[in-house]
Amino acid sequence: MWRATVLTLYPELFPGPLDASVIGRGMAEGLWALDTVNIRDFSDNKYGSVDDTPAGGGAGLVMRADILSQAIDGVSQNDRPLICLSPRGAPLTQARARALADGPGLVAICGRFEGIDERIFEARDIEEISIGDFVLAGGEIAAMALIEACARLIPGVLGCASSLGEESFEGGLLEYPQYTRPREFEGRAIPDVLLSGDHKRIADWRDEKRKEITRTRRPDLWKRFIANGPIRRDKNKD
Ligand code: SAH
Repeated sequence: MWRATVLTLYPELFPGPLDASVIGRGMAEGLWALDTVNIRDFSDNKYGSVDDTPAGGGAGLVMRADILSQAIDGVSQNDRPLICLSPRGAPLTQARARALADGPGLVAICGRFEGIDERIFEARDIEEISIGDFVLAGGEIAAMALIEACARLIPGVLGCASSLGEESFEGGLLEYPQYTRPREFEGRAIPDVLLSGDHKRIADWRDEKRKEITRTRRPDLWKRFIANGPIRRDKNKD
């Protein structure tokens, strides 16, 4: 079973939102599992501290590599990648989430304070992943985002698996606009083509919209799409 193990100073934050809706139901049904390790349990002092002042001076506190390494080494990794959530990591992509969802799971390390002693990244095989170019107070919300992005891709977790293939980023484009009832909302109608029942025209319209939205909102994705053509699933795996 796909399993996420989270190393954190705040295990009480989990499962948190991961327990809700289809993702939570998937966990209850045994489609995926989550457990936490409290890094503080590996502290070597009576105060339970896991951090210390930065070598060379400066503000804040740094998580100690020796304590963190013991927390890491206590986890049965079972071929799961070790991932540290970090603003300097590789930006998380749908392709990476899909590759992780296809594997046995992941072990996530959540930083706090100013960050983590650099030597842990040299001493252990750790992949750093960022959830965006902004700074959070800790890795927990980032770990939840990563785990949720993976868990919803695990077969059986989402009711309608066919909808996954047309989503944003799949095929290198953002999603087309969606509509539902009522037919008219504050004077705005649903585009006629969607009510036409003509599947070919609907597919063409959606394709056009995906391209238009990607071109205007995300020139970076559009450029890549033009250069590479549609991204195929199998090419997406790292
Ligand atoms: N001083 C660090 C930021 C530390 S923030 C720096 O400038 O790079 C504290 C912790 O929050 C980090 O160790 C990391 O685990 C987490 N974090 C903050 N922003 C993040 C982001 N964008 N993506 C993933 N994790 C993040």
